[in-house]
Amino acid sequence: MHIIYTTNQAIKLLEQIRREGKSQIGFVPTMGALHKGHLALIERAKMENDFVVSSIFVNPLQFNNSSDLINYPRTFDHDVELLKSYQCDMLFCPTVNEIYPEPQSKVYDFGHLDTVMEGRYRPGHFNGVAIVVKRLFDIINPQKGYFGEKDYQQLAIIRKLVQLEQSGVEIVACSTIREVDGLAMSSRNARLSPDQRAKASLIYQILQQAKVLTKSHSVSEIKKFVVEKFDSEPIAKLEYFELSDAETLLPITDLHTRRKIVASVAAYFGDVRLIDNVIIFP
Ligand code: AMP
Repeated sequence: MHIIYTTNQAIKLLEQIRREGKSQIGFVPTMGALHKGHLALIERAKMENDFVVSSIFVNPLQFNNSSDLINYPRTFDHDVELLKSYQCDMLFCPTVNEIYPEPQSKVYDFGHLDTVMEGRYRPGHFNGVAIVVKRLFDIINPQKGYFGEKDYQQLAIIRKLVQLEQSGVEIVACSTIREVDGLAMSSRNARLSPDQRAKASLIYQILQQAKVLTKSHSVSEIKKFVVEKFDSEPIAKLEYFELSDAETLLPITDLHTRRKIVASVAAYFGDVRLIDNVIIFP
């Protein structure tokens, strides 16, 4: 696996790779602290491309909370071993100066996509995600970019970004990979205490229960149920629960629209903020 630290080296190597006839390049951007969720993206990219690039870059622009940035888990050596064992072809791990040689002022208009849910509680987050993904796409110039449904709203933002920037990158959505108890794999899980970790599967359990309730209950009844469930677990603090149209991400009030719905949660376990979602088909 090629380990590349600078933009110029990355561009050079990828030019050479294309000259060798490997024209289909798959790209998996990450912030490191890799787990099976990330590796599932690599695996999928390996199946669909001639050459797979992953990146590890903890993007300061997408952290609206500086302690979250400082505490973000970093396990670089282990990540390299994992990527090698999954036959990733190239790892791009630039410094902040390499990605942002100049201050960034771009402000994207994502409409309501970045004002609901995560956007409401993490102002500026998606703009920071969009800036780094655009920059990475410009450097790597992939045919396909792989993103997890675990970050469902992010996926919608990336699709919109590609449209706004006319990047021509095909966005491939990959299912959420979970621990055996249902907890969505996340780099942040490593920061949970054993007690918090044991209780964190509550998020998925509640999402599954909410999904069942959509057959028989109203939106407001389901929301009340979810709030009460979280209230009954002192170790967890619900930030939001939302039922939204899975395409537009607008909150829904009527469950009988025959449209795909996404049920989303953000909750704190101590100072660790976890998000998850499930899709509800009509
Ligand atoms: P991150 O390192 O958290 O920025 O994630 C990098 C990519 O991996 C994003 O596209 C995430 O949506 C995806 N991802 C993270 N966790 C999971 C998971 N449990 N299942 C599937 N994809 C995931």
